[in-house]
Parts: sequence; structure tokens; C-alpha cells
Amino acid sequence: MLGLMMHSQLTLTTVMAHARKFHGDAEVVSVTADVPLHRYRYREAFARAAQLAHALQALGARIGDRVGTLAWNDYRHLEVYFGAACMGLVCHTINPRLFPEQIDFIVNHAEDRWLFVDPAFIPLLRGLQDRLPTVERFVILGPAAAAENCGLRDAVSYESLLEGLPGHFDLPALDENTACSLCYTSGTTGNPKGVLYSHRALVLHTYAALMPDSMNLSCREVVMPVVPMFHVNAWSIPYGAAVVGAKLVFPGPRMGDGEALQKLIESEAVTLTAGVPTVWLALLGYLEKTGKRVPSLKRVIVGGSACPRSLMEAFEERHGVHVQHAWGMTEMSPIGTLNSPTADWDSLGAEEQWALRLKVGRPVFGVDVKIVDPDGREVAWDGESFGSLKVRGPWICSAYYRLDGSDAHAEDGWFETGDVATIDARGFVAITDRTKDVIKSGGEWISSIDLENTAMAHPGVAEAAVIGAAHPKWAERPLLCVVRKPGVDVSRDELLAFFDGKVAKWWIPDDVVFVDELPHTATGKLSKKDLRDRMSGYRFPGT
Ligand code: ADP
Repeated sequence: MLGLMMHSQLTLTTVMAHARKFHGDAEVVSVTADVPLHRYRYREAFARAAQLAHALQALGARIGDRVGTLAWNDYRHLEVYFGAACMGLVCHTINPRLFPEQIDFIVNHAEDRWLFVDPAFIPLLRGLQDRLPTVERFVILGPAAAAENCGLRDAVSYESLLEGLPGHFDLPALDENTACSLCYTSGTTGNPKGVLYSHRALVLHTYAALMPDSMNLSCREVVMPVVPMFHVNAWSIPYGAAVVGAKLVFPGPRMGDGEALQKLIESEAVTLTAGVPTVWLALLGYLEKTGKRVPSLKRVIVGGSACPRSLMEAFEERHGVHVQHAWGMTEMSPIGTLNSPTADWDSLGAEEQWALRLKVGRPVFGVDVKIVDPDGREVAWDGESFGSLKVRGPWICSAYYRLDGSDAHAEDGWFETGDVATIDARGFVAITDRTKDVIKSGGEWISSIDLENTAMAHPGVAEAAVIGAAHPKWAERPLLCVVRKPGVDVSRDELLAFFDGKVAKWWIPDDVVFVDELPHTATGKLSKKDLRDRMSGYRFPGT
């Protein structure tokens, strides 16, 4: 027997319609290249998204066309997110920090018809445009003057494109499985791979992201996504904020600037922000240097790579800001797990709580997880046994975009994350490594993430990375690479002694190499692959 409920499609169009109807007064504040602090309300944002839909229609847009963006987090990018997706196009966000050859590959692979470009990326595209034959026009995200003499083919400014067009557009009734956005993984190995999101996946993901034990977003929050809008839909914050009517604050090109972030937090009374661990170092450094405060800020969601305890402590003890650890990936829209206290939290000792908080939390409803050994047998949830982490659910990628034979899930319907993890009896997941970064010493796995977190707790360490280096007896042993804090002279032996009693004896790195900087990927994560290449000539002392 079938239920007797109405059937409506789960689309971003419903998110936009809801926000326009019920949260029209909520504010969107942005830093942009042309306006230092732009301010308007959701009502206006969605009217302009409708103007954009008219403009794209006039340019001959057809359902399914890809609209590329190379843009910072700001109100115009938000308009493209909704305007393109709700008229049935695909908003293809491109990471401008990728190598030019990767951008070239991605735009051609996606066959973007238009590129919406922040003025800052005009020089990058000038050098690339002759290799991008599918791009019909470049739309410069700024006022009329921004496109003048910019040197890009058929360039038009965003504001000229929208000028005079109606603020209402008859949006098509889309099937919920229609594609709405596209994001390529940074492709640390091989070419980048496209993850094509559907309206349904993002609406369900948004519901899950909003739940109290997830991001717990409400209309009373002022949320500033420092995770870029060119990376996995800014962790779905723009959609979640629209659903609940939260004020949005966009830092534009000033995302890595501690002073700008502090000013925005203070002037806009930001309560919640989110981003990868490295972006917070700039903010914390600025606060430390100037003695400035962030009194309105209550929570920071940190994910994308392991969040060291030292970062959590700096936020919590010095600034009263709660840090919430999260894990996910581009292929998961991105949320997999979030760390929130359990019902028995208060009965746990301080160190027990810390041990749990450093894990990435428990899966949100909608994401199923398991860990398996190399033979595919499930590994016990004892918090100690490692296994390859697999996931499944309605917002997890089932195949990569236009990549033949790329079914991302195995025959059993699970997606292989490429991460190694433990799960404890409470269901808390701890990411111990990426499969390709695991260190295998004498056949046993050592978690490089655990070792990095330990090293980061030393006051003389600014950044740490641990890789496996070849060893004649053990096949591989951990090698610690460290960037010292300026002005602190910590020695190799001091650092190695610091591990005593904090990790198993046989996990302690065999050596330390001090470096001026560590290599990072385009999304700001440590690039272990580049580090391994750089250290390929390294030999442990005495071997
Ligand atoms: P890419 O780095 O290829 O662009 P993603 O941004 O999708 O891809 O990164 C996903 C990966 O980042 C995960 O598979 C995992 O290895 C790592 N990751 C994400 N969050 C965390 C976390 N909280 N702790 C440790 N690793 C994390």
C-alpha cells in the first residue's frame, strides 16, 4: 500500500523559494574587489539570481549546460549558485589555486559555455583562454568597468549582464535528480575527477547538515564560510543558511587574512565559521599579535584535514570558541561525520573527552560507514583496529562525471573513501591516514595523523608532517618534518623525547628534518606526495 502524501521534488528551487518567502530580510554581507563591504538582503539576492537566469536564457542556455565560476566567496557567487542551478544549469565551481594545466583540463572536460570570473583571476585566464574553445564568453564579476580592456574574449561585466532585467523568472519544474553543481577533486594523482551533484542530493545533505548534532544552524546564527565556495559547495553553508534564514558573511578575497577575518567577525557579530585547519592559523596569529578579540564567535567547524589539539586549545582556552571537528570529502557533498558531545559526555574525564574530540565524530543520518581489512572483511569497532573506510548514502558519488568505467562504488554499493580509520564502540570515527599515506613499519600500520597531532602540541612547532621513509630492516619508518615557530630553537632530540609516553614506543619517528615550509595542495592541505618526492633522497642516520 502506498502512502497518501503529496509528492514534490527536492530541488534547490524550493530552497530559494522558501528563503525568498520567509527570510527575505536576512542579510548577506560581502567583501568584494569593487565594494569593501557590500550589504543586501536575501530578497535582493534572489531577485538578482532571477535576473541572471534571464541573462543566461538570452545567451541561449539549455538545461544541463555548465556555467563555470572562478570566484571568491561573495554575494555574486551566491547568485550564480542559485540562479544557474534553479534554471536547470550546472554551476561548475573551479578552484583558482589549481595549476593552470589543471584548470585548462577541467574547463575543457566540463565543456563550460561561460566562465564567471573574479577580476583577480583575469591574468590567469588571459594566458589560458586560447586553450578553452568551449567558453563562449567571460563574465567578469564586477561593475561595467571591470570588463573594460580586460583582454578576455567577448568579456562582459556581470553588472552589465544583469542590468534592467526582471527580478522574477519562471523557473522550470525540475526533476530532483537533475544535476545542479559540479566540483572536481584536486587530483593529487592523475587528472582531476568531476563530482556531479544533484538537487536531491544537496537538499538531503542540507537537511542533515542543519541537524543539532551536525552544524546546528539556525536563523539566530551569523555564519561566515571561510571554506571556499569553489570547494564542495562551501560545505553546503549557502544552502543551509538559506533554509533557516541565517545571516551570511562572505570574506571575498580576504579569506587568508587574519586581520580582515577578525574585523568581519567583530563588525558583523559572526557566531559561526567553518574552514580547513590552516586558515585558522592566520586568524589566531593575528589575535595573538594584537590582543584583539572575537567575542561574538561561538563555534568553528574544522574539517578537510585533521584538526590538531593545539588549534582547538588555542580557540577554546584563549577565546572561548568551541571547535567542532568534521570529516568529509568532495565525493560526499561533503559531510560524512561531525563531532558533537554524546549524552554521557559530562560523566567522562577531561582526557577522555579530548580523546573523543580529536576523532572526527559520528556519521550524520544518511551516511552509512564501515571499515574493512584487505580481504574485505569488516573490522571490529574497538577504536584500535584500522580498516579501509567505506561509505554509502544518497549524497555520495556513484560515478565520476564523463569518466568511462569510473563507477565510484564497488559492486557491493559502497564508496571507497581512500581513508584508513578506526571506529569505536560509540560509533566515533578516527581518520588515521589516507590509504596512500599510511606508514607500514615491519608490516604494522602507524598513523601519521596521530604523530603529527602530537608534534603540533609542542610549543616550538609551527607545522608538522610525518611520512614513511625507506628503512632496510622495517621497510618503512616514520620521518618527522617540522617547520619551527619563528624565534623558537627546538632541537631534534627534544622533539623526539616529546613523544615519550604519548604514543606507542615503536611509533616514535626515527628522525626529524627541519624545513622552512611544507608543501600544500590547492585546497590548503599538506601534500604528502610532494613531501615524499622532496625527501626521496633521505636516508635514516646509520642506514
Ligand atoms: P581533495 O583533498 O582531493 O581535494 P577532499 O577535499 O574531498 O579532496 O578531501 C577529502 C579528504 O580529506 C578525506 O578523504 C580525508 O582524507 C581528508 N579529511 C577530510 N576531513 C578530515 C579530518 N577531519 N581529518 C582527517 N582527514 C580529513
